[in-house]
Amino acid sequence: MDLKKYITIVEDWPKPGIQFKDITSLMDDGTAYKYATDQIVEYAKTVHAEIIVGPEARGFIIGCPVAYALELGFAPVRKAGKLPREVISAEYGLEYGTDVLTMHKDAIKKGQRVLITDDLLATGGTIGATIKLVEQLGGIVVGCAFLIELTYLDGRKHLNGYDVATLMKY
Ligand code: AMP
Repeated sequence: MDLKKYITIVEDWPKPGIQFKDITSLMDDGTAYKYATDQIVEYAKTVHAEIIVGPEARGFIIGCPVAYALELGFAPVRKAGKLPREVISAEYGLEYGTDVLTMHKDAIKKGQRVLITDDLLATGGTIGATIKLVEQLGGIVVGCAFLIELTYLDGRKHLNGYDVATLMKY
């Protein structure tokens, strides 16, 4: 299946010069959404993932159905102030300034094999901070899976030494 047919490219959104890859048109199509999810499920099996982790909000859209299909847990990564119990935090760089991601302190068990999922790898800041959180909790990042990779932004520079799977490249 040619998944790119289901991605809508929105020019100059959210600001001039950005070409936004809209995955909601893929999610709208049950067959395409299932096909993409199944690819990541197969990848999760090859890396023997024991838990899925995803950053809000689109990391949930990708990771939760994978966790469900494999009967694994899903641990959310959220912006500061969203998780109700004790958290750990990691700061990451944005185009202008920084932001903070958090995870519950007890979300991952020491030595647990973690697959991180997100919709899109751009500069890699989000995935870099997510890896830091997982490793701080003692998890082993066995893979990172994305629907889309923007190769021109070289997000892989944050992922040296990690296994990465992407279903579409631009
Ligand atoms: P980054 O931290 O730069 O790798 O970007 C992380 C998140 O920003 C991705 O998970 C996407 O949800 C979103 N994002 C960044 N660039 C784009 C883009 N061109 N189109 C759609 N989403 C994007």
